[in-house]
Amino acid sequence: MRSNGGADNGKKLKMNIRQPDHLNLLCDLGELTSIVTGESDIETFLALTTELVAKHLKAHVCSIYLFNSDDGDLVLKATRGLNPDAVNRVRMKPGEGLVGLCFSENRILREGDATQSPGFKFFSDAGEEPFNAFLCVPIRQGVEKVGVLVVQHRQIDHFTRFDERALKTAATQLAGAVENARLLMTLAPDKETAHPAPNLPAFIRGKANATGVAQGQVRPSSRNRKALLLEPDRSGKSYTLTEFTEALDKTVKELRQLQDKFSASLPESASLIFTAHFMMLKDKNFTGKMANRINGGENAVAVIQDIARTYIRIFATSPHAYMQEKAVDVEDLSIRLLANLKDAGPGSPTGKGTIAVAQDLYPSDILKLVADGVQGIVLAGGGITSHVTILSRSLGLPLIITDDTRFMDLPPDTRLLLDGSQGNIFINPDQKTLDLFTTKARAEKQAKSHAMKETTQTLDGKRVRLLANINLLSETRLANELKAEGVGLYRTEFPFLIRSGFPSEDEQYLIYKKLFDQTSHMAVTTVRTLDAGGEKTLSYAGAAKEANPVLGLRSIRFTLKYREVFEAQIRAILRAGTGCSNIRLMFPLISSIDEFLQAKEVVSTCARDLEIEEIHHVENIEIGMMVELPSVLPLIDEFAQLADFFAVGTNDFVQYMTGTDRANKLVADLYLPHHPAVSRGIKAIADAGRTHGIEVSVCGEMAHDPRYIPFLLGAGIQTLSVDPQFLPLVQETVMAIRMDEAKAYAKRLLKETRISGAEAVLKTRPRILES
Ligand code: PEP
Ligand code: MG
Repeated sequence: MRSNGGADNGKKLKMNIRQPDHLNLLCDLGELTSIVTGESDIETFLALTTELVAKHLKAHVCSIYLFNSDDGDLVLKATRGLNPDAVNRVRMKPGEGLVGLCFSENRILREGDATQSPGFKFFSDAGEEPFNAFLCVPIRQGVEKVGVLVVQHRQIDHFTRFDERALKTAATQLAGAVENARLLMTLAPDKETAHPAPNLPAFIRGKANATGVAQGQVRPSSRNRKALLLEPDRSGKSYTLTEFTEALDKTVKELRQLQDKFSASLPESASLIFTAHFMMLKDKNFTGKMANRINGGENAVAVIQDIARTYIRIFATSPHAYMQEKAVDVEDLSIRLLANLKDAGPGSPTGKGTIAVAQDLYPSDILKLVADGVQGIVLAGGGITSHVTILSRSLGLPLIITDDTRFMDLPPDTRLLLDGSQGNIFINPDQKTLDLFTTKARAEKQAKSHAMKETTQTLDGKRVRLLANINLLSETRLANELKAEGVGLYRTEFPFLIRSGFPSEDEQYLIYKKLFDQTSHMAVTTVRTLDAGGEKTLSYAGAAKEANPVLGLRSIRFTLKYREVFEAQIRAILRAGTGCSNIRLMFPLISSIDEFLQAKEVVSTCARDLEIEEIHHVENIEIGMMVELPSVLPLIDEFAQLADFFAVGTNDFVQYMTGTDRANKLVADLYLPHHPAVSRGIKAIADAGRTHGIEVSVCGEMAHDPRYIPFLLGAGIQTLSVDPQFLPLVQETVMAIRMDEAKAYAKRLLKETRISGAEAVLKTRPRILES
């Protein structure tokens, strides 16, 4: 993208010209973007943004124009410095005036004196006469054109190349928030027709933890579940030992019912999540002590509260995170027990087609809510554990977190609409909004049921193998429906993350056995060994806090260090694979040949031990590795002679090749899958695979991105492994590509040494389908 302003000399500027404090601007914008949750309305957010940008760029004017797709106009939505009455009144078509030109041609425009520019269009309503210097940048979210961010100044030539850069970076950072704002403004119910609940606006932005859309009436939880545990019982009722025992039985039954309900759909969590609960229910020091004291004449409610609180205190103050998590289990169980004793119900919001609103949530609550047909969850003003986040996400259950505790006061007939991908909560949405989201949801569903072909080939008949990435066993159903040829990546970490202790070998065996049974007809089922650590910390693993966890004790390094954890997992996989010929094992984050050989050695040892113990297990299992680290590349041929297959984990590969944290928004513009080093790296991996006759698949997010699929195929990747819901899109994309064209295109891309060059080639990629 080039400016049409004067060509500044960077060196000269550094010496003579004001350099704005861009870092502060970005920090402030980051803060502002994160504030746009809860009650702050979107107009205020846009207004604050213009204030902030104007202040940092020392501009007299800052304005935001957003594109309205209904009428095709660019509309002034917020301004600092122009006439405030012009907001929503100043409009232009793309291509019209400098702002329209910036938008339609997607380029930065910097004018020393805009009034002299042939493209300048004067809007008398806006009161912009005295402003000469002009700088505007397009606001884009991905390929979506969102609007234009403009700054103006009285003094001719005020803006420099540095301002240009700052404004561009600001626009990038704001794009997501502004795009969201734009959507919300389009969707926001008319003020007259909206029926927000008392004291709540028509929508609120929270933090999204799952994708998908849900709607329904609100079912607030009983005032506060914790009150059962914390507040003294004022009912004056005393409960007998028999009533206590009945409450215990009822709690066991309730938990068993939950477990049964989920054993088909969520087998890994159903069997693991309540393990601690069941153990405590049988524990003499816990329920046994309660029974003794009640038998001795003490008040049952007070006894349960007392013993539970003692254990919660002990666990919660432990220096070990895994002990702290046990406090949550004790709390959950004790509340259930108290609710059953007092016949107050389990205290969770439930009901078919409803949206649950809660202040606290336990993993077991999520399962129960799903079992009861709840469509989505608003977590208002409370804390959340990683278990809850992961569980809701993998279940596709929209869950939005907000600090706004007013949700707890919503009348039960309030309707809520949750957009789990954006984090938006619409309160009593109008029909237009509901229709829009119903259509969106229907389109998503149709996309899923798209008729898949059994096999996939390019337009010129070259076979490409499509595999599925699986996190939860329940996802194998969709993978089957969408005709995945195999499982390219089974992420084994979920059963480890869902609970507060390492799952035993036997517990894991049951999980892997189910996976293998459900995928026995497939060509391959690839199990990746535990990829914990980094951003997937196991709180109970006792790991020291790391300054750089992504470069720390994660993944294969963790399992090689904690050999017994590794061996339990390998044994479970080998045992569960008895009689299966399609099972493969792979290690994540391999950084050296030594590490790969050590990991392989563990597998041999486990197989030998099982042999000696005369336990059935799969023999001669194929062993591959994920290619995720740059250190593998110079040794790729040697690795290819040792591994049975490669799976390129591009999520991490791009992260480590470019030195860019994949989860850090501040450097998101540097996380580039088309970085020439990444492209050449992928080609080298594919070449080594071909030379040594081993399969190379790609199982990171690049594999489902239509922008990158032509390159991957052209570079020699013939197997793509993607989350099941992406299979139709990937098949459609592959089937629209000619392999010869893809090869020529990959060749052109691989010639490029610069990112800008790669981006130019990317625009010329072969015909593909992009949504
Ligand atoms: C990857 O890094 O691309 C990958 C598939 O592994 P994960 O996303 O689980 O780290
Ligand atoms: Mg990875």
